[in-house]
Amino acid sequence: MNLDVIAVAALILVLTWLLWFGWTVVRGYVRSRWWRALRVLIAFAVASVVVGALTCALINARTVQLVGDHVTRVDTAHRVVALTFDDGPDDLYVSELIALLKRFDARGTFYVDGAEAAAHPFALRSLIVSGQEIGNHSSRHGRLIFVSTATVRRELEAADAVIREAGFAGRITFRPPQARKLLSLPWVLWRDRRTTVMWDLAPDSPSPAGDAAAMARDVADRVRPGSIIQLRPWHPGNVATREALPLILSELRARGYGFVTVSELLDLR
Ligand SMILES: [Zn+2]
Repeated sequence: MNLDVIAVAALILVLTWLLWFGWTVVRGYVRSRWWRALRVLIAFAVASVVVGALTCALINARTVQLVGDHVTRVDTAHRVVALTFDDGPDDLYVSELIALLKRFDARGTFYVDGAEAAAHPFALRSLIVSGQEIGNHSSRHGRLIFVSTATVRRELEAADAVIREAGFAGRITFRPPQARKLLSLPWVLWRDRRTTVMWDLAPDSPSPAGDAAAMARDVADRVRPGSIIQLRPWHPGNVATREALPLILSELRARGYGFVTVSELLDLR
């Protein structure tokens, strides 16, 4: 069932009817069939534009989700943050990343793509063995909007299977691919009692700033206890992100912050 399409179509129809009805009440009933048809058409056009704009805002909203458990940070007095890493994993940088986290006594949460993880078993296994938490970022990283709930479920289960087969036994939270969601995806997550984990700080989004020091400064300026920090270290072009990570770790450590996994952070709620 494609809940996204159903919801948008239903909203357009309801709003069209409301607009047409309101117009008829205010301006009176018209006898001409053409005028009536034109009024319906105009009401439909206005409803489509309004619902379209609303839908776009909702799809891209970081802080709003229609149903289900959803976090961008956790309200806590504990001086901790969760470092989260999207996409990948990749064999190329995995050892360097793990060594860096270990140096700062930090554990991260890695939202991996199922297909990428299956293609890089060494990277996934290394993350698990070193005690990192693994999250689900879908299997193929395609936008899960305007798709059926069956498609969503397939994407989630395929990635789960790869993560479990590699030996990860902990809780698997979810982060939407390309940060997009409407109703089908949240609906499936809600039915599975699964938490959608977004972030309150994303120093390398929408595109890497190209300046590691600026990224670290941005995090240091805006971090709060309970922050969830999103980073994308795997892409070969994201050199600045990889350079920013040690700066972020040492700056936050100097300010007395500890680094916990997303599950540990969620347990503080
Ligand atoms: Zn991603």
